[in-house]
Amino acid sequence: MIMGNQAIALGALKAGVNLVAGYPGTPSSEIIEFISKYKEKTGTYVEWSVNEKAAVEVAAGASYAGSRTLVTMKQVGLNVASDPVMCLSYVGVKGGMVIVSADDPGPISSQTEQDTRNFAQFSKIPCFDPSTPAEAYQMVQEAFELSEKYNTPVILRPTTRVDHAYESMDFPELEPCRTRGTFEKDSQRWVIFPRASYLNHKRIFDRNQNILPQEFSNSKWNTIETLERVFEKNSVVSDSERRGSLPLVGTSLPPTPSSGGTPQRPDSSKGSFALAAGGISYCYLMEALSILQTEHPDNESYKNAQVLKIGTPYPFPEPLACDFMRANPEITVFEELDPVIEQNLVFLSGKYGIPCKIHGKLNGIVPEAGELTVEIIKEIIKKAFANGVVSTGSTTADATSATVNADAATAETSSSTAGTNSAPDLPVRPPVLCAGCPHRGAFYAVKQAMKGKKTAYCGDIGCYTLGNAKPLDMTDTCLCMGADITMAQGFYHNEPDRYCFSFIGDSTFFASGITGVVNAVYNQSKQVICILDNSTTAMTGHQPHPGTGVTMMGEIVEKISIPKILEAIGVKPIIEVDPFDQQKAVEAVKTASESDSVSAIIFKSPCISVAAKLGYKFPGARSVDVQKCIGCQKCIKELGCPALNMSLTKNAKGKQIVEIDKSLCTGCGLCAGVCPVKAIG
Ligand code: SF4
Ligand code: SF4
Repeated sequence: MIMGNQAIALGALKAGVNLVAGYPGTPSSEIIEFISKYKEKTGTYVEWSVNEKAAVEVAAGASYAGSRTLVTMKQVGLNVASDPVMCLSYVGVKGGMVIVSADDPGPISSQTEQDTRNFAQFSKIPCFDPSTPAEAYQMVQEAFELSEKYNTPVILRPTTRVDHAYESMDFPELEPCRTRGTFEKDSQRWVIFPRASYLNHKRIFDRNQNILPQEFSNSKWNTIETLERVFEKNSVVSDSERRGSLPLVGTSLPPTPSSGGTPQRPDSSKGSFALAAGGISYCYLMEALSILQTEHPDNESYKNAQVLKIGTPYPFPEPLACDFMRANPEITVFEELDPVIEQNLVFLSGKYGIPCKIHGKLNGIVPEAGELTVEIIKEIIKKAFANGVVSTGSTTADATSATVNADAATAETSSSTAGTNSAPDLPVRPPVLCAGCPHRGAFYAVKQAMKGKKTAYCGDIGCYTLGNAKPLDMTDTCLCMGADITMAQGFYHNEPDRYCFSFIGDSTFFASGITGVVNAVYNQSKQVICILDNSTTAMTGHQPHPGTGVTMMGEIVEKISIPKILEAIGVKPIIEVDPFDQQKAVEAVKTASESDSVSAIIFKSPCISVAAKLGYKFPGARSVDVQKCIGCQKCIKELGCPALNMSLTKNAKGKQIVEIDKSLCTGCGLCAGVCPVKAIG
């Protein structure tokens, strides 16, 4: 079984990728980590770059020289990389460059539900949208070919459920990467002069408006499917062909036509209803139809429903879509995030005067936000196509009457699921800082030192975002990576009497914090920058960064010093302190907050998950003295450490006491310092 991100990695290695760079971000992080395992065998250079922008720029250099490059990131990382990405679209590449930007419907672990398909259109870069790991494996290879054919970067846009799904595939034979290219000087090509951009814009427009829509209409990734057809194909495809080429979600999902062959053309002879989908939504849709057909064997509508599958959302396969619309005057579109397919169909209807009603997110048939599921789609189809009867030419109920309230559908789905599935709902488990996390000590020290003062606490993206949770409640804002330092400047310039703090991790400091520090010093801000240095990129899986002294090539290199960077920029004072030494930490906060300029506190203590590797020895779990504990719960209410729980045991005065979960406690001692009666030893 191969995970979607591993499939993407294998596809890139199979394509002979020479250089891979990226910045960690769920759901994309495993791609580089998997490639790194094979770097000796293939000779591929791999790096975690400081941020996505740097990653794209590193890759561009190699690609200009003719080498194949892969850049990985999550969708919001594409914003960081947008500057070089937009320019590369115009300048172009020589060696194939594939940018994997993983989208996160839900969102499950992201700030937004940004849709990379729209970014592809915005940046004029062709985009592939896999619906399964096996498709992703094939698409990434095809993306390299397309990139070199048209000298353009190409985007591969998987979503979380494709990145993290597992599928049975044959593990490919890996060979050394392609021979690296040599850079040939050609300023007319590689320097982005305005005149060159003007000419390239015309060329790109022609490619995206005239060439690729036609080419993509004949691609195996864009097809017209019915359940009947895919069942037929499934029955004639051997096991070995099915592996690595056919998507399966659950046991009843039929395959896509990704095994190749001529794309299907619209067939209106069956008189059934028409649907469209892309990415993982296609798999959900086909499974929903399959279930409906099983539940209603006499109703041919589900079996004969025409499904337009879109695997290349940009440029849109216009001729194929137009044929589909001419054959089906009503189409319902299922897709997550933005209504990209839906809007393209609406646009084509107007552009070519094709009378076709398009249903989807824009008229409320499909939920406008969050993930889709098989159950949600099934309920929508059942409701919108009462009894499964919608003829292609008939005047069915208009969009309003056919509209299904998406929320209601979702709610009903839950209740119907509850009826058939006796498993209880899982308890909600909000994310929390680990027991023994040094960030807890840092936040608590600032909170103690600034009690009663007018403050603003600007947070950032990483584990320390969890400092917002009660009882710490130490994050007032969180926008995007690196924004903590710059937002604190905004607060200061607006209210100079406010104590402005920013909280940023060591990896994020390198990713996008340094520029904020430069801006703060240059523009005469007054703020305290708290760098929570736990010696790793913790939240995404402990990737190394420039401050750790290790590269993804396994080299031990000189650590880049955060204090020296701060000093060079002009920050003062710069105080390094152990967040578990609360007395010194509180003093440090008070000192730094009285500075008239930009000051910094580096709270230095390793993440508990990497501490052992770094030679750090934990003191051992603490315990509560039953005789001393007065049951005041101050330890729980001030720190929120998950190792602290209310016990069933009562003290001599009949008061319920606190107990410490020894399997979680690292012995950090914070709670011992908080306890008013020294009951924790
Ligand atoms: S351990 Fe100390 S702080 Fe916690 S409940 Fe007991 S007395 Fe209160
Ligand atoms: S010593 Fe206290 S605060 Fe630290 S991990 Fe153990 S229970 Fe949590």
